Amino acid sequence: MLGDLISGLEKEEHKILRETVARFAKDRIAPIAARIDEEDYFPEDIFKEMGELGFTGIMIPEEYGGFGIDPLAAVIVLEEIAKQSASVALSLMVTSVLFGHNVAYWGNDELKKKYLPGIASGKLIGAYALTEPDAGSDSVSIKTRAERKGDYFIVNGQKMFITNAPVADVFYVFVYTDPTKKKEGMSVLLIEKEMEGVTVAKKLDKMGMRGSPTGLIFFEDVKVPVTNIIGTEGMGYPQMLKSLEIERMVISAISTGVSLAALDWMVRYSNERKQFGKPIGQFEMIMKKIADAGAMLDAVRTYLYMYAATYNEEKDNRFESASVKFLASETAVKITLDAIQVLGGYGYTKEYPVERYMRDAKLLDIGSGTSEIMRFVAAKSLLKAGRVI
Ligand SMILES: Cc1cc2nc3c(=O)[nH]c(=O)nc-3n(C[C@H](O)[C@H](O)[C@H](O)COP(=O)(O)OP(=O)(O)OC[C@H]3O[C@@H](n4cnc5c(N)ncnc54)[C@H](O)[C@@H]3O)c2cc1C
Repeated sequence: MLGDLISGLEKEEHKILRETVARFAKDRIAPIAARIDEEDYFPEDIFKEMGELGFTGIMIPEEYGGFGIDPLAAVIVLEEIAKQSASVALSLMVTSVLFGHNVAYWGNDELKKKYLPGIASGKLIGAYALTEPDAGSDSVSIKTRAERKGDYFIVNGQKMFITNAPVADVFYVFVYTDPTKKKEGMSVLLIEKEMEGVTVAKKLDKMGMRGSPTGLIFFEDVKVPVTNIIGTEGMGYPQMLKSLEIERMVISAISTGVSLAALDWMVRYSNERKQFGKPIGQFEMIMKKIADAGAMLDAVRTYLYMYAATYNEEKDNRFESASVKFLASETAVKITLDAIQVLGGYGYTKEYPVERYMRDAKLLDIGSGTSEIMRFVAAKSLLKAGRVI
């Protein structure tokens, strides 16, 4: 049956974790998921509770109050949360993995001690700021500049489409410390919201992922202590590549979570809804949609879980991350659209959550690298290898 293949990859502690997260998500998130979407509000109380339960500490070492580094655990947590609300899962992924895990992986002890316990306990919210108004897919063309002046960097520039920006306390910011060196001149600084010269401009009004606030950040002569650098000067580019590897893996769990929720509605509705005297699930064209959804989802989920369970950070995983990301997100878009079709006119209304799933799913093949770019990365990896057998 659906999902049986992956259960063999989960250890006992993963199964317990899944049960705990699923219970929390059903009890605390499901009842307000539609309202989060409708009113586009960030559920601060839910983040506090997730902090108390340790969910914001996925991919943060235990010594800093986290769960430890276990990509499979992160996939399980994000998938279970996304079944109820993809937007809560997206904001959770950004603070815990894109901020938390990156600081844990690349930061020095001082920065880890300063920020990670707050992130792991949900008391601090983090954001990851790479994209700029003129630099999306082409991320090396960012213009944000950090100029060294004694013990400080003076930062000027702006960031666009930053998840959590309107609610975050601290940002993981990609800058150029030496633009003449191109990629080798890219660095990462931790910049706090309260530092003088930082302005979070506005919350964007989006079609989906509502409740996961997305914003612009302006940096105007911001004085950032040199001790806030992640790693060393010029290490930004390799950090970006490695962090995108993890990001593309874990965001795929949001895709599988949304897909599971949509398929669940397709199956339940098809058994109940009768037309022409019988359940619509007995019509072949509806059955095809259900069969395709189940097969695609099981295949992509098995790929994702195998990848997460065997993830080896020492390896170049660009092909796996890019390919699982476009497969999972496009599967989510397809299944959520088909779910609307199966529910007919009801699927098009807000009486059922499938239209929300579709609006949320569409972000998943854009954010963290578009499907076009994912295919480019995947193909480039294979071409570079030269042969596959
Ligand atoms: C809700 C939301 C949340 C986000 N959160 C964050 C965040 O937290 N942090 C962050 O840094 N960024 C974030 N982003 C930014 C996101 O990663 C970018 O939107 C994405 O990488 C695409 O960049 P772009 O929007 O500038 O599109 P563009 O790069 O301008 O692309 C436009 C179109 O051209 C295509 N295209 C571009 N280059 C090529 C090429 N070489 N070959 C073929 N096609 C190409 C693209 O695939 C796309 O279809 C977020 C975006 C959204 C919408």
